[in-house]
Amino acid sequence: MTQDNGELTPDICVIGAGPGGLAAAAAAAAMGVPVVLIEKARMGGRSLNSGSVPSKALLAAAQHADVVRSGARFGIKNVRSGVDFSAVNAHVRSAIEVIAPQDSAERFAGLGVRVVAGTARFKDASTVAVGDLTVKARRFIIATGSSSVVPAIAGLNETPYLTPETIFDLTDCPRHLIVIGAGRIGLELAQTFRRLGSDVTVLEAAVPLKREDPECAQIVLDALTRDGVRLRTGVQIVQVRRILARIQVVIAKPDGAVSDGEATIEGSHLLLTAGRRPNVDDLDLDAAGIRHGPNGIVVNKRLRTTNKKVYAIGDAVGGAAKFTHVANHHAGLVVRNALFRHPVAIDHHAMPRITFTDPELARVGLLEDEARGRAGAIRILRWPYRENDRAVTAAATDGHIKVITDRRGDILGVTIVGMAASENITAWVLAIGQKLNIGAIAGLVVPYPTYAEVGKRAAITYFMRGLTTARVRRIIGWLRRLG
Ligand SMILES: Cc1cc2nc3c(=O)[nH]c(=O)nc-3n(C[C@H](O)[C@H](O)[C@H](O)COP(=O)(O)OP(=O)(O)OC[C@H]3O[C@@H](n4cnc5c(N)ncnc54)[C@H](O)[C@@H]3O)c2cc1C
Repeated sequence: MTQDNGELTPDICVIGAGPGGLAAAAAAAAMGVPVVLIEKARMGGRSLNSGSVPSKALLAAAQHADVVRSGARFGIKNVRSGVDFSAVNAHVRSAIEVIAPQDSAERFAGLGVRVVAGTARFKDASTVAVGDLTVKARRFIIATGSSSVVPAIAGLNETPYLTPETIFDLTDCPRHLIVIGAGRIGLELAQTFRRLGSDVTVLEAAVPLKREDPECAQIVLDALTRDGVRLRTGVQIVQVRRILARIQVVIAKPDGAVSDGEATIEGSHLLLTAGRRPNVDDLDLDAAGIRHGPNGIVVNKRLRTTNKKVYAIGDAVGGAAKFTHVANHHAGLVVRNALFRHPVAIDHHAMPRITFTDPELARVGLLEDEARGRAGAIRILRWPYRENDRAVTAAATDGHIKVITDRRGDILGVTIVGMAASENITAWVLAIGQKLNIGAIAGLVVPYPTYAEVGKRAAITYFMRGLTTARVRRIIGWLRRLG
C-alpha cells in the first residue's frame, strides 16, 4: 500500500470497526492483503461498547440476583439479596475491558491492518475521504452498523431519554424505567432492570416480539409478567414530558381520548428501544452510486452494492437480521467474494435469532405461517421442558421446543423457548443449513441429562404419529433412559 500526498491505495478499505468490519479486516490481513480500516468512534463498535457485551454482562448480574432471590425453592435459605449497582457497573466495565484488547487498534496494527481514526465519506465511486486523507481501494466494505431509532413523539426533544447506546452509562439503578418498544432488545433490558430492582413498564404500539413464533413468544411474555414487568401492548403514545425529576408518558385511550388519569404513566427514566436504523448519513453514498433506503444499503445475494467496487455487511445492510453473528458471517462471505471472486451467496434461512430473556427464545429457519405458505402440508413436533429430566432437576420447566418439518420430515424451522435455548439452537442451525431430515436428529446420541434432549424427543415424535398421549410419551422417555 502506498501513501503519497495523503493518499492510501490498499486492496481493501473497511469502513467501521464493529464485529463485521473487524472480522473482514482480520480475514483480509490474514491473506496478506493490504487493508485500511476506518473507525470514527470506538474500536469494537456497538457490539463491544453498547450492545452484546455490556447487555450480557448486565444480564448475568441480574440473573445472579434472581438466583439468590429464588434460592428458597432449592432449600437454600436466609441468603441476603442486595444489588450494589456501582459494583454491577464495575462488572460490566470489566467485561468490556477484558475483550477490548482483541478489538484494539494496536492488535489490528499488529495484524498488518492500517487503522485510521475518523469519519469516512465517499468522494466518488472509488474514493473515500477521512479528514485530510483519501483512500482509493480496489474494494470497499461498508460495515457502519446501526443506531437506535428515535421515534417522533411530541415532547421528546425536551425530555431526557436513554437508548441502548447510553443506558450502560447509568450510575444508579432507575427507580421506574419506562421502556418504549417490546422487541428483543427492549424486553431483554426490561427483565434485566426489573431483576436488578427497578420497577419496569414496557409500552408497545403493536405486538411484542413480532418476529418470533407467537406461541413461544407468549411464554417469554408470561415470564416477564411474573417477574413484575408491566407490559402494555397496542399503546399509542401521545406525548412525553418531564416534570421535575419525573418522566410522564401520556397514552391515548382505546377510543382516542387523552386523559391525565390512568392513561399517564409516570417513571424516573425513559428508554427508547423502538428499532434500529442503518448508519449511512455520514457516508455520502449517493456520491458513490450506492443505493440505500430507510432500512439500509441495498445489496445483492453476494452482499455487493449497486457500486461494483463496494460491499456492505452487518447491521448497515437492508433486510439483514441485526446480530453480531450475522455481521461476522457477512464478513467471511464478502472477503471470499472480494478477494477470490469466489461467488458465495448469503443464506439468511440458516441464521439463528436469539432473545436473551429468561427463558431464552431461539429460532432458526421458517415460522409456522411461512412454512405453511411454502411447503403446504407441514408437521409440527413439540416437546415440553417439563418432561425433560435436567429441567426438572433445575426447576426450569418453562418452555418447549417446536420443530416444523415438511411431510417428508425435512426440517424447515425450529423455535426453542426455555433454559439454554441459545446453546441448543446450534444443532438445529446445522440441521437447517445442511438440509437434514428429522431422522438425523432422532438418531443422535444426546448426553443425559441435558436440555438438548428436548430436541431429540421432539424429533422422535415425528415417527410416532398417533402415539402422542402423555402416557406414551412417559413410556418412550422411560425406554430412552434404559438406553
Ligand atoms: C443493547 C443491545 C444488545 C445486543 N445484544 C446482542 C446479542 O446478544 N447478540 C447479538 O448477536 N447481537 C446483539 N446486538 C446487536 C449487535 O450489537 C449488532 O448486530 C452488531 O454490533 C452489528 O455489527 P456491525 O459490525 O454491523 O456494526 P456496529 O457494531 O454498529 O459497528 C459499526 C461501527 O462503524 C462505525 N462507523 C459508523 N459510521 C462510520 C463512518 N462513516 N466512518 C467510520 N466509522 C463509522 C461506528 O462508530 C461503529 O463502531 C445487540 C445490540 C444492542 C443495541
